[in-house]
Amino acid sequence: MGIAGATTENRGDGLATMRVPFVDLKRQAVDLRAEFDAAIASVIERAAYTMGPELQQFEDAFAALCGCSHAVGVSSGTDAVKLALLAAGVRPGDEVIVPANTFIATAEAVSHIGATPVFVDCLSGTGLMDPVGVGPAVTPRTTAVVPVHLYGQTVDMDALAEVASRHGLAIVEDACQAHGATYKGRPAGSLGVSAAFSFYPGKNLGALGDGGAVTTNDPDAAELVRLYRNHGQDDKYTHRVIGYCDRLHNLQAALLLVKLPRLAGWNEARRNAARDYDSALAGTHGLTVTRLGDGVEAVYHLYVVMVEDRDGVRQRLGERGVESGIHYPVPLHLQPAYDGLGYGAGDFPVAERRAQRILSLPMFPEIETAQRAHVVAALEQALA
Ligand SMILES: *Cc1c(COP(=O)(O)O)cnc(C)c1O
Repeated sequence: MGIAGATTENRGDGLATMRVPFVDLKRQAVDLRAEFDAAIASVIERAAYTMGPELQQFEDAFAALCGCSHAVGVSSGTDAVKLALLAAGVRPGDEVIVPANTFIATAEAVSHIGATPVFVDCLSGTGLMDPVGVGPAVTPRTTAVVPVHLYGQTVDMDALAEVASRHGLAIVEDACQAHGATYKGRPAGSLGVSAAFSFYPGKNLGALGDGGAVTTNDPDAAELVRLYRNHGQDDKYTHRVIGYCDRLHNLQAALLLVKLPRLAGWNEARRNAARDYDSALAGTHGLTVTRLGDGVEAVYHLYVVMVEDRDGVRQRLGERGVESGIHYPVPLHLQPAYDGLGYGAGDFPVAERRAQRILSLPMFPEIETAQRAHVVAALEQALA
């Protein structure tokens, strides 16, 4: 515990009152305020509110970041999953395999198109979808699988691609927590037939409101998402399919263009913070850090550890000013909304076991060294 011990001693009792927020969205808004104001003024002056030039510009830049030929801005990450699944050919009555350990939006998007989510368990070390669980979950109605790059770490895509191709499943990535993450050097967003991103304010790349995007290298899929997001319309008032009102606001695209050039630096700051936590917490008794999969460069949307007596530890951290989170406390197969699917406790033991123990520590690009040291010191005290 060399680093953590030294840090604790050096800091002394003064730290007891330091407040460490879980995320700090106000910091970025202060730094970027002048650029935001200019972008908003420019959009207002041109009244360029829908499908404007900023949307196109942002889509081109975001596609490049993801190593894809196409990105299509949409209204949210949830809608991005839905539209990507539709474009991949998923239809009402189909089954789509999703992890039990994810944010509910992954499964909701499947349900929104009248398909049925089929859950699989996660790996104990990473919390990510276990590719080994996918094969046994396949039925004649299964048409797609949604790997979720949870916490900013990519799923074991080689193993998943092998099982998906064996069963003829489309792979649609949920990359809503993984902007800029890579798997064996390839960016999240380019690892399946298409991928969904969220620009919810707290994500690694966040709008000032809701937003999302679908990325793909398939021009037909891109075209379909463009149709579906805008009332199925290609020429004005010609509606090829029954679509949705799922556009990304041009104003949000303009604001995202301000932030996009900073993403790489913010992700690097998150990785530095994570490395710091990793080395300070390695060997801490009663705590397990999240393992990193082979070939993965993570972007640490969340920094998750596992502890016994999680709720007690969380409470004691709070008493020392340290905010924390739980991502996620109830696996999807045990959510009331999915009662009708007939799952029960014990179906996915790894996800259920993790849900009792996981704790997300403060993580945001601007988190200061002293704040991290305080988190580590408070955590060690809470575990003692
Ligand atoms: C945030 C998130 C979503 C949904 O994104 P919204 O923009 O909030 O609709 C989907 N999946 C995962 C894993 C997420 O973290």
